[in-house]
Amino acid sequence: MKEIRVQTAIIGAGSAGLKAYEEAKKHGVSAVIIDPDFKLPAIFRSGYLPLDILRAIIEEQSSSVLQDDTPITMYGMDHSIRLKFSTILQDLRERRRNCSEKYMKNFSAIAEQDKIYGHASFEDQKHLLVPDTGIRITAETFVIATGSRPYIPSCIQPAGSRAITCEDLFELQALPKSIAILGAGSTALELGQILTRLGVKTVIFGQRHLWHFTDIKISEIAEKCIGKSVVMFMNSEITEISSDDNGVTIYYLDQFGKEGYIRTDYILAAAGRIPSFSKLHTENAGISPDIFGAIPADPNTRQTKVPHIFAAGSVAAQNTPLERSLKDGAMAGRNAARYPGELRKSPWLPLTISFTTPNFAIVGKKEEELRRRHDAEPYIIGEASFQESHWAEIHLETAGMIHLYFSLRTQKLLGAELALPMGATIAQFLAFSIALEKTLPELLGFSFYKPSPLEIVQLAVKNASTRFRELETDRKIQLPGKQQSFYEAEPQNGYQRF
Ligand SMILES: Cc1cc2nc3c(=O)[nH]c(=O)nc-3n(C[C@H](O)[C@H](O)[C@H](O)COP(=O)(O)OP(=O)(O)OC[C@H]3O[C@@H](n4cnc5c(N)ncnc54)[C@H](O)[C@@H]3O)c2cc1C
Repeated sequence: MKEIRVQTAIIGAGSAGLKAYEEAKKHGVSAVIIDPDFKLPAIFRSGYLPLDILRAIIEEQSSSVLQDDTPITMYGMDHSIRLKFSTILQDLRERRRNCSEKYMKNFSAIAEQDKIYGHASFEDQKHLLVPDTGIRITAETFVIATGSRPYIPSCIQPAGSRAITCEDLFELQALPKSIAILGAGSTALELGQILTRLGVKTVIFGQRHLWHFTDIKISEIAEKCIGKSVVMFMNSEITEISSDDNGVTIYYLDQFGKEGYIRTDYILAAAGRIPSFSKLHTENAGISPDIFGAIPADPNTRQTKVPHIFAAGSVAAQNTPLERSLKDGAMAGRNAARYPGELRKSPWLPLTISFTTPNFAIVGKKEEELRRRHDAEPYIIGEASFQESHWAEIHLETAGMIHLYFSLRTQKLLGAELALPMGATIAQFLAFSIALEKTLPELLGFSFYKPSPLEIVQLAVKNASTRFRELETDRKIQLPGKQQSFYEAEPQNGYQRF
């Protein structure tokens, strides 16, 4: 057995692992990075990149081929002129290769002697084995960055090779003619809309909750919006699946308990992802997964309960956006290199976006979180629907809504949930405002350029301000700077959501 001794061993060469390696090397320590194949990180194979490329292909072709008023049916878009189906996936793969090459230049190259090919597994808290190569690594610190894999529900197993994941779809020779998508998260919804626009007969079987929304009103509006561009059975249950050489038959109960069946070329599992560390044997290092199956780590330092072991990326948290994987990877690498020196902290402001049409976003605190913490932080909601804005009139877009959550005591913006055209940009603006601890009066005084998609934020801020004034008039609350607190005013009521 070949023995290697280093300061830091990084397990996994995806987005988080590559950043961890880069940071560890910047700190001048010896490091190795272990991965079975050092291929493109997940984000390029099946993540946002292929989805974004497909969206770009649609935009390029839609102006000349598709009519805006082409009806959406359960069987995709009813248009006679079809796009060049046979080449779309080839185009996608070529563009993905070009984009990835450019993107990979953002990462420092890994020195050949620091690369170890294979699956790592913990022998104990200080040693890793890479059985494929016969290497044993002794390290002072470790970074676990082994990513996640798609969750494949057992109910779709009878579909055999007709059950695919996002990654498989992008590797097919040509787009299928029809597809059923299981799930109601970002991948399911984005892909459902994209494939429908590309003329693939698409149907989504969704669970009870749409995306990550916790605000019921926003979720309902979002569901209506999405329902205009893809056929979706929310709250449905698949009862049986059978398959043959030509496709798959899916029997289901819809939300009213009515039975139905549908036949498609494939069924695609997009019902979430689960952290991937099965071959790692973290139990030998004294680390066990949390209830979500992720490796628990301090969100500000990425340190696990075993102080010299750090974890970053989608193995350590659910629904990790790319930016967070990169930031956490860098933090884990930096702290692993510094350990046992003082660890650096780098807080993360939660920001989740889905590039559906309209965009969905959750910024800062979710409504559910605020509801749970009501005793500590009573809050008020500022609401605006998209059709109230000038932007909507100009662009003839009417669907969408935003809820802003403000602290009743400090008037600081705490969070937002929204389903809006240009919602991704609006969410970035809100994230910045939360990071700067902006208050309701400050946002009220801010000059919002018109017409602009951000007008809706101004409308929601005004709505929150009106509600504040009404509450103050009703003497339900005392605003900051006055003598009596909200609790002193109405202690018996406890939590109130205004
Ligand atoms: C379909 C999809 C769409 C997405 N869309 C977006 C989006 O629009 N915006 C956004 O910000 N984020 C998006 N994401 C999230 C983003 O892709 C992830 O945050 C990011 O890729 C996670 O990086 P990672 O390093 O944790 O995992 P990965 O990049 O998967 O890397 C994990 C690495 O670990 C290796 N590995 C596993 N086990 C072992 C072992 N035992 N030993 C050694 N190596 C091992 C694997 O081979 C792999 O190379 C999307 C993800 C998916 C899947």
